[in-house]
Amino acid sequence: MQGGYQCEDCGEAVWLATTRAELAWLKNRRHIVLEVQRHLGSGLDGWIDEGLTFLERHDGHGVTVAERGCGTRP
Ligand SMILES: [Zn+2]
Repeated sequence: MQGGYQCEDCGEAVWLATTRAELAWLKNRRHIVLEVQRHLGSGLDGWIDEGLTFLERHDGHGVTVAERGCGTRP
């Protein structure tokens, strides 16, 4: 399974190499994670960076956490 964020306002989605549960965690703690990231001064895990970028871009929009199966994989 693969998790992602979907913006209902823009119809955009991003799929990341992590689970839906992890993405829900990040979405709920975005401001804390951003502080940690600033403090470290370097990137966190790739999916965290990408997820934060998407959440920042769609701040105030109707972003939902989504999940898709591995049907697209060989
Ligand atoms: Zn949006």
